[in-house]
Amino acid sequence: MPAAKLSSFFLPTLREAPSDADNVSAKLMLRSGMIRKVASGIYEWLPLGLRVLRKIEGIIREEMNAIGGQEVILPVVQPRALWDETARWGVYGKELLRLKDRKDGEFCFAPTAEEVVTDLVRREIRSWRQLPLMLYQIGLKFRDEIRPRFGVMRSREFLMKDAYSFHAGEEDVNRYYGEVVGAYKKIFNRCGLNFRPVEAQSGAIGGSFSHEFMVLAETGEETIVSCADPKCGYAANIERAEASRPEDAGRGASSADDPNFKKPEDIRTPGLHTVEEVADFLHESPKRFLKTQLYVLQGKPVMALLRGDHQLNEAKLAAHLGAPDIRRAGEEEYVKFLGCPVGFAGPQGHPDVPIHADFAALGVLNGVTGANKNDFHTIHINNPRDFKIAGSADLRMTTPDDPCPRCGGKIEWHKGIEVGHAFKLGTKYSQAMGATYLDKSQNPQPAVMGCYGIGVGRTVAAAIEQNHDANGIRWPAAIAPFHAVLIVLDEAEDSRVREAAEKLRGELPRAGLEILEDDREGSPGVKFKDADLIGIPLRVVLSKKSLDRGGAELKLRSAPQPEIAPIAECLPRSLSLLGLPAKEAAAITPEVSKL
Ligand code: ATP
Ligand code: MG
Repeated sequence: MPAAKLSSFFLPTLREAPSDADNVSAKLMLRSGMIRKVASGIYEWLPLGLRVLRKIEGIIREEMNAIGGQEVILPVVQPRALWDETARWGVYGKELLRLKDRKDGEFCFAPTAEEVVTDLVRREIRSWRQLPLMLYQIGLKFRDEIRPRFGVMRSREFLMKDAYSFHAGEEDVNRYYGEVVGAYKKIFNRCGLNFRPVEAQSGAIGGSFSHEFMVLAETGEETIVSCADPKCGYAANIERAEASRPEDAGRGASSADDPNFKKPEDIRTPGLHTVEEVADFLHESPKRFLKTQLYVLQGKPVMALLRGDHQLNEAKLAAHLGAPDIRRAGEEEYVKFLGCPVGFAGPQGHPDVPIHADFAALGVLNGVTGANKNDFHTIHINNPRDFKIAGSADLRMTTPDDPCPRCGGKIEWHKGIEVGHAFKLGTKYSQAMGATYLDKSQNPQPAVMGCYGIGVGRTVAAAIEQNHDANGIRWPAAIAPFHAVLIVLDEAEDSRVREAAEKLRGELPRAGLEILEDDREGSPGVKFKDADLIGIPLRVVLSKKSLDRGGAELKLRSAPQPEIAPIAECLPRSLSLLGLPAKEAAAITPEVSKL
């Protein structure tokens, strides 16, 4: 491809971002003319933005094909009937955009495609011999997000790569899942991004089969807990991160007449509700507190018990109880089940309310807790003398002080952006929709499935969140819209410049470098500023002055100073600065391209 000319390239840059742009990447994508907003959560991709999107798509495609994926296009408008088969028409809620055709037939706009792809496979696959099969697409999705924000990072219409694999048996999906995780690592490495695959569900028993891929960025919405020792490699979303069981948790096994137990005593704590307020008042550490939280499960109360300095992880409680539909008790329910207002409840004196304790709460000796009456707390409460527990588990959020739950080493916390998700589905969809194959003994079996998504647009935005400075974007070379911007000055008045410019205009693109030539009228200063804003990794400036100094001026977007390279050296030097393989250039020599 010859160098693109900026004078005719559709690149409407902005000096200021629109006021509703609410994060760095949205601001920079709007300012650099990559995207425009049409309506809330709905965007246009302009040529510069599309080039980045296509590069990431290209990398994804290669890696999906490399693990045997086959590309398809599945419909974006999908019939309700398929969504009824899995009951998701009912449960998906308002994120699902529903439409009617002229005959009043009901449809939705695809937020994902499990139903459609499972329907395809049940119609076409008969035998174990046809498995495994992995189909993927890169296509638009629509989710009517409650709060679209951060530009294309959480939009309503967005481009997703979604892949679905079908297997004859559990073992094969487990094996293939590992291949997909490997392919995802290659994809984000090739994009030049700093990322972590994190466990998205507890991996305690037999390995985890749900991973989120997080691009690390200060501005990310997700918190990632990861082991500082790369040899251990433990990493999890904070929502799922395990807390290791403290050494003294076994203390809960002591008997009711333990000589260490002091006599309980009520203390007036008027108007003091939170652990912090009461701890201040009593000059006690929050670690000495037993904190209760009341939940309701099918109309019945359940109490969670935590150490005062810990926070409950509701997902862990729900998993421990095997009850995804628990809900936090309201104020009236505290009064109804415990006879006291929120803030004054304690575990003692409620034999009919099952108490589920976090491991760390088991270690609290002579604890401070609510007295189950307004304006009072009780000190010296002990398990099992003053209350009995129905169960104990890891129920809390981890803290920065917790050790790695795998190796006991130091833990690091990072902020991240979820760009990809891999998930073992099992037979949820194949069973509901009757997608079966005949096994070796001719028995019908539901296909075992996995699904694997990557937000392509979100990856573009995440790359910017991770790679920018005060002047604009700093694209990793592999996903930059162009490799280099070429700025030629003094061409009209200097034949040496003309000659060198012609050479570079021919030679650089022929070697596979994608060049944007800023041939607009205007000062070099303005051109430099725009090149920095749109984030092109390499700037090549050719002028009388640069030739006087020995060649062309090459400057990496990330380098503080330019360097001079003789014209004959410009190509190899550019390739090496960009970290692109020289063999690529050698393979497409001018001689070859003439054939
Ligand atoms: P989130 O928790 O951020 O809403 P999700 O769990 O709903 O994501 P998946 O259903 O796993 O997302 O979709 C796969 C990928 O699609 C995500 O990893 C993300 O990169 C991307 N994605 C999801 N929702 C959006 C959105 N509203 N805008 C842009 N990309 C999205
Ligand atoms: Mg979502």
